[in-house]
Amino acid sequence: METTGFDLFQFEQLLTDQQRALCGQIRAYVDNIVVPNINPFWERAEYPRDIFMAIKELPIIGGTIKGYGCAGLDSLAYGLVQYELSRGDGSISTIFIVHSSLAMGTIGYLGSDEQRERWLPAMARMEKIGAFGLTEPERGSDASHLLTVARRDGDDYILNGAKRWIGNASFADLLIIWARDEAGGFGGFVLENPTQLPGVTIADIPNKIGKRAVPNAHITLENVRVPAENRLEGCTAFKDITKILTYSRYGVAWEAIGLAAGCFEQALKYTKERQQFDRPIASFQLVQQKLVEMAAEVSHLQFFGYHLAQLMEADELSIGQVALAKYSATTKARRVAQLGREVLGGNGILLDYHVARLFTDAEAIYSYEGTADINLLIAGREITGLNAIV
Ligand SMILES: Cc1cc2nc3c(=O)[nH]c(=O)nc-3n(C[C@H](O)[C@H](O)[C@H](O)COP(=O)(O)OP(=O)(O)OC[C@H]3O[C@@H](n4cnc5c(N)ncnc54)[C@H](O)[C@@H]3O)c2cc1C
Repeated sequence: METTGFDLFQFEQLLTDQQRALCGQIRAYVDNIVVPNINPFWERAEYPRDIFMAIKELPIIGGTIKGYGCAGLDSLAYGLVQYELSRGDGSISTIFIVHSSLAMGTIGYLGSDEQRERWLPAMARMEKIGAFGLTEPERGSDASHLLTVARRDGDDYILNGAKRWIGNASFADLLIIWARDEAGGFGGFVLENPTQLPGVTIADIPNKIGKRAVPNAHITLENVRVPAENRLEGCTAFKDITKILTYSRYGVAWEAIGLAAGCFEQALKYTKERQQFDRPIASFQLVQQKLVEMAAEVSHLQFFGYHLAQLMEADELSIGQVALAKYSATTKARRVAQLGREVLGGNGILLDYHVARLFTDAEAIYSYEGTADINLLIAGREITGLNAIV
């Protein structure tokens, strides 16, 4: 059974039967439901609700979280989920990673037992969708110095501030807002039904050129009252949130690998079919040079991803290693997408051939979950022991 598609070096042989079967299930969803239907949503910059909701039939919601109705995947399976989704489409892959890794991951790994019990089962059934609000208009790479504040008032906290780029926020049922408390501590506050909460304004950012089917919101918070019991118990300092960023950056590294594989698969198919000078363009040396460069990058990335998964499974993946992986995978994916776009000629900028969409998605993953620069600097700090971020 073919599961991972492009497999020049028998990567699939490293997978268990269960992991291969899971890839096959996701691939069927991507090939039958996502890819044939996503373009009009991308073009209209509209949330593809029905396409996304069909994902709940797959045993992947909640990633590696065990219990509470979550999938309880091993680390490699968690990576392969992002690989298979983003191989087909970057918007679905991002909507999923925000819900399952960022929002559920935060509650699963930083919530108390009571908080996990309260929110995760409904999220695992996708009756409630999550969003994760860290980035601010004035605090992007500098997210450790947030301006949003949470002031204690009796049994509540009162939140003031602004957030930017927050995926899923405009349709989310649970929105995690990160803020500083009066003691200078760092807290995660779960806003229930955020669009209905007094003081919350959520407006989708228009005019994006990538991941267009993901709504990314600009949020303002003016004296928003949140019950104290909605503050996540396992987070008091920024270092706590780095656990979640490590977890989701690992997913984004796999997202980049899938995107690169998707571009290569589409480019190979196209260049074998497209004829110029009475022969397939794949027969030209210059086209083969690009295809081989793409194949080499995808092959390297697949095995790099596999080893990352082993480290993560053994709980040995450091912050610097995952930053290097995210930096390297998104940089290579961007290059592969560029070559894929190029070998499709004019059709490389048409949505119909799918590479164009992945090409613009590559730009977004290069910059989110820490820009390429910031991840490079985190890796550089770990390698040298010297901090060059500021
Ligand atoms: C499609 C998309 C989805 C997103 N989804 C979410 C989400 O769901 N939740 C959320 O909280 N955030 C989200 N983000 C925000 C994302 O994490 C930020 O865009 C990212 O962290 C970069 O912040 P910034 O855009 O403000 O860029 P800036 O921090 O302003 O950076 C601009 C440039 O300056 C460089 N730079 C900054 N500081 C340094 C430094 N010290 N040294 C060297 N170079 C530096 C950067 O590398 C970059 O090239 C999303 C972003 C996008 C594009």
